[in-house]
Amino acid sequence: MAVLDVRDLSVAYGDHVALRDVSLRIEPGQILGLLGPNGAGKTTLMNAVVGAVRPRAGAISVCGVDVAAHPRRARAYVGYAEQEIAVFPTLTARENVRDWAAICGVPRRQQDEAVAATLSALLLDRIADRQVRTLSGGQRRRVHCAMATVARPPLLLLDEPTVGVDPGTRRAVLEHVRELADAGTAICYSTHYLPEVEALQAEVVLLADGTVATRGGVADLLDRYGSTVIDLRIA
Ligand code: ATP
Repeated sequence: MAVLDVRDLSVAYGDHVALRDVSLRIEPGQILGLLGPNGAGKTTLMNAVVGAVRPRAGAISVCGVDVAAHPRRARAYVGYAEQEIAVFPTLTARENVRDWAAICGVPRRQQDEAVAATLSALLLDRIADRQVRTLSGGQRRRVHCAMATVARPPLLLLDEPTVGVDPGTRRAVLEHVRELADAGTAICYSTHYLPEVEALQAEVVLLADGTVATRGGVADLLDRYGSTVIDLRIA
């Protein structure tokens, strides 16, 4: 069974159709790279998966649970690092991640270990006990990413998780994502950077204007589209 199953999804904001007839599946252990220019619909797709925007048509299920019918049950299977960083500024990085682990139902006796492992994977140990309001933008984004992954949900949605993250630390983020997939997590990874998708050995769905323009492996896309896709490599 696919962890995420999106069928013929259409979403509109008033008259503006942001997604049209989008279908995709993500299996356990699979990383799907979601690419596409600004406004293509990547964030809208993720917001629909967590029930934050209501589809005009189509259906979404997470771990077999229909999102429209059972939004809370479906949401419990998803870790979501939104594009907008949402952390508690006066709590420390460790407290943010631990509180989130508790909210997500990580048993109390496992929380410290899960939090420490996640902070360490994202190279946050040294700054774990500083209030988040004193951290840099890239550090905050990594704390936010840690909150999404700490409970090891079956489905992870990461919306441009490396924006503002320096190259060395970006590698750590990508390694963490790859390790989670290797342990069975299904991951939807939105990015503007094709090299990240290559590094993750992800399948790609390229959205354009709210529809799936193409999909496949990176090598396959480069073969088929050459410079159009290579443009994405400039970053
Ligand atoms: P980016 O790469 O810039 O993050 P994206 O692919 O994530 O872009 P979305 O944020 O999903 O794109 O936006 C898809 C379309 O929907 C855009 O045309 C955008 O202007 C529109 N849109 C997004 N959110 C809203 C909203 N709350 N109200 C109205 N229109 C919206």
